[in-house]
Amino acid sequence: MHYTLNQVDRHHQVNINASAPPVLIPKRCACGNRAFAKQLAQHGKCVACQLADRVATLHEGDIEKLKHALGATSHRPQSKWGFRNYYCAGRGGAAEEAMRRLVAAGFMCAGHEGENQAYFHATKAGCKLAGLNSAGVRRATEDC
Ligand SMILES: [Zn+2]
Repeated sequence: MHYTLNQVDRHHQVNINASAPPVLIPKRCACGNRAFAKQLAQHGKCVACQLADRVATLHEGDIEKLKHALGATSHRPQSKWGFRNYYCAGRGGAAEEAMRRLVAAGFMCAGHEGENQAYFHATKAGCKLAGLNSAGVRRATEDC
């Protein structure tokens, strides 16, 4: 089937005149990134900014604990990161407070909680934040 240029033009004309649903109109977040109008209506910002907001709720050292949980430390090759995924925190201490912040931000979830200690595990978002590649994320979260 062949369209003449004229027919293509007319086809475009129809598309422009038909009112597109507003959710499909690309808009920009305050940071300048393009974001879907639906995203902006629901969250007021793009995905990257939402992530930045969640990271901003963390305190200094929290991400280091998250990385520690995943074995994502500089003395191990990145290909091994995610070989473990747990953090054992003493109850009522600074480590547990750090874990609770990570849970609230969606980067960790609470696991078994004992009388004196509690276990926490990184979520997929947490794995990504810690710098794991997709194989590492799968490795770390296969039990979740
Ligand atoms: Zn943004």
